[in-house]
Amino acid sequence: MTPTSFEEMALATPIKRALAEQNYHTPSPIQAQSIPTLLQGRDLLGIAQTGTGKTAAFSLPILNALLEDPKRPQRKSARVLVLTPTRELATQISQSFDTYGKYLSFRKTLVYGGVGKNPQINAMKPGVDVLVACPGRLLDHMNEGDIDLSGVDYFVLDEVDRMLDMGFLRDVKRIIAKLPRQRQSLFFSATLSPAIKELAHGILHNPESVSIAPKVTTAEKVDQEVCFVDREHKRELLMQHLGDQAAGELTIVFSKTKHGANKLCRWINSEGFTAEAIHGNRSQPQREKTLDRFKSGKLPILVATDVAARGVDVKDVTLVVNFDLPNEAEAYVHRIGRTGRAGATGNAISYCTPEEHEFFMDIEKLIKKKIPVNDRHENHHDELADLHARGIKSRESTRDNGGKKKGQGGRRGGGGRNQSEGRQEQPGNNRRRRSNRRPRRSA
Ligand code: AMP
Repeated sequence: MTPTSFEEMALATPIKRALAEQNYHTPSPIQAQSIPTLLQGRDLLGIAQTGTGKTAAFSLPILNALLEDPKRPQRKSARVLVLTPTRELATQISQSFDTYGKYLSFRKTLVYGGVGKNPQINAMKPGVDVLVACPGRLLDHMNEGDIDLSGVDYFVLDEVDRMLDMGFLRDVKRIIAKLPRQRQSLFFSATLSPAIKELAHGILHNPESVSIAPKVTTAEKVDQEVCFVDREHKRELLMQHLGDQAAGELTIVFSKTKHGANKLCRWINSEGFTAEAIHGNRSQPQREKTLDRFKSGKLPILVATDVAARGVDVKDVTLVVNFDLPNEAEAYVHRIGRTGRAGATGNAISYCTPEEHEFFMDIEKLIKKKIPVNDRHENHHDELADLHARGIKSRESTRDNGGKKKGQGGRRGGGGRNQSEGRQEQPGNNRRRRSNRRPRRSA
């Protein structure tokens, strides 16, 4: 029987106490399905995304196991290894271990790139119970003899689809090769492509599978709309949407590339709003500072790329703007999941140009519903809206770096390269639509 409260679960009292303090009483579906299995020591294949409560789903049974079998970790070793693709996710997972393990005593450290190695080396020297790491830096430490993973009892591979998108497959395989055969393994991914299945097969032993449907639950709490618009009018439209936000409301604006995020951020600031960008080219301390300012409400607008925003868990985001549509439809679901969290409602507005039309069609196909069209703006692209309503792809539509069409050479996920800058303009691309631009907002 699936438990309906944490009280019913075979978790130790200090863990239940920490959960009660957080006001967590009812397990989320992934928690209800995974925790009992994990407490029995089984391997797990979880198909679930950030926002489903998967962090607690794996950290609670692991903390319970550490409490039941308190061993001193050996020097330069770890009993639990959690591998995750981004620093933000690693930080968040580490914070979750602290929160849920508040009344337990265990040693934990975080390992990721972009910051000095020495504090990490010193933290690992006496041995740790829980090591939360990103693959690249962990591999560096392993190669330099700073950590030995042969004593890992519990291994969590988190956000595997993103890990593969980011090109970490080789690093991950090298790390796994150093783990002991005897261990409990947990594997989480939002999607299950053949490559991911194969990886899972090589890692897990007779796993229990738990699949939580893509974040429809969150998406249902999000009012979604699309604005059909020409590329040159996107900024004007953004001004309108940023201007409609009330004081204190938080907005995330998504850009496809790091360079695009920087440019957009500079422009938003020049228009009298306050925005900062987070993306892979900013240093870890810069990213953390920006995120802290955003979380505390001091920074109202965050401009982000997909990879950097993964794992950003900010409760009060009321508006997500897809300034550029993602090449991968799944990323749309992740993006809009940044709003409407923790029972709140939110808005997600996507700008779709003729060039991006095919991506938009992919998104509607994935979420299996029509996103309402917002034509209440001066730059509404009637022609594109009409084509879309009739299910006809715009001739100007260009799948750039999505890699979905054979022969276009892009690799999956784009890897931050922006081939769209160099795409071929097709006839009609330079056609100007109405020129009734609003006067610029004065700062
Ligand atoms: P995650 O998918 O692990 O990133 O979790 C998403 C959000 O849900 C985080 O803000 C968690 O703190 C929160 N959360 C996780 N489990 C529960 C629960 N059982 N009850 C209430 N909130 C939860």
